[in-house]
Amino acid sequence: MQKQPDVVAGVDMGATHIRFCLLAGDGTVLYCEKQRTADVIRPGVVDGVAELINTQLRHYQVCCRGLVMGFPALVGKDKRTIISTPNLPLQANALLDLAGKLEAALGCPVEFSRDVNLQLSYDVAQHNLQQQQVLAAYLGTGMGFAVWLNGAPWTGAHGVAGELGHIPQGDMSRQCGCGNAGCLETVCSGIALKQWYEQEPREYALGDIFTAARDEPFVQQLLDHAARAIATSVNLFDPDAVILGGGVMDMVDFPREALISSIKRHLRRPLPYQAVRFITASSSAFNGAQGAAALARSQFMPSPYVTPVPAVHG
Ligand SMILES: [Zn+2]
Repeated sequence: MQKQPDVVAGVDMGATHIRFCLLAGDGTVLYCEKQRTADVIRPGVVDGVAELINTQLRHYQVCCRGLVMGFPALVGKDKRTIISTPNLPLQANALLDLAGKLEAALGCPVEFSRDVNLQLSYDVAQHNLQQQQVLAAYLGTGMGFAVWLNGAPWTGAHGVAGELGHIPQGDMSRQCGCGNAGCLETVCSGIALKQWYEQEPREYALGDIFTAARDEPFVQQLLDHAARAIATSVNLFDPDAVILGGGVMDMVDFPREALISSIKRHLRRPLPYQAVRFITASSSAFNGAQGAAALARSQFMPSPYVTPVPAVHG
């Protein structure tokens, strides 16, 4: 029997949609698909996800070397334990040894990742930054943040590093979705922006805030909060590059250059001020799934095409 060519799989599971991608050994995208999460997991999350992947493996007659699957959730250091999924329609017992059950159903290794790290992996690969130190700030529903160090997303001692949205630099009188008071996200997030918009009738659509209401104090303050938080992270990490993206930054007329100027105003001089580069994140819906597959490729398919992960000293 002829040996089947190898691929890796990436899955990005969101509350509403699940996106899936197969990547060939040379890094080319073989297949992408989007479905409603509720439809996929109706027979159970293991059976549903395995069927989604196995159908395409049979169709392309390829063999899967590994899967990276992302969730809008905290994922443990072991890359297998899902710590909390406030945004996913999954029961606690569905999460019990989910990685092990998927490995049995697919016959390949499985790793979990936090969704923001998938987007980071995609943007890093897209801009060839694998060997650099990179920060990413994704101002979307929340204030997403991720760190790329030593050739991989940096996840901290427990897997939960990079919670810039939950530094105590918000409105102390307001409780954040995480349960703490005064998180940055109470004043700097898509949720905060929407709450402000809905406070009174407006003559413009929510999506036109940066066209119609850019000079409103709340909007200016949101941008200042974002600039100070991102500048703080740059002064702490001294990265080569900062990726800026997310749903709010993708809105029409978002003042990207003004945000970068504000960030730079707070950067330490002469460095990192003179050297750090700002890069725009791409905003295709399949970034997460493709980022997951890119991580799977570097993890499970070492090859001349893949940049090796350097050893961490210490
Ligand atoms: Zn919080």
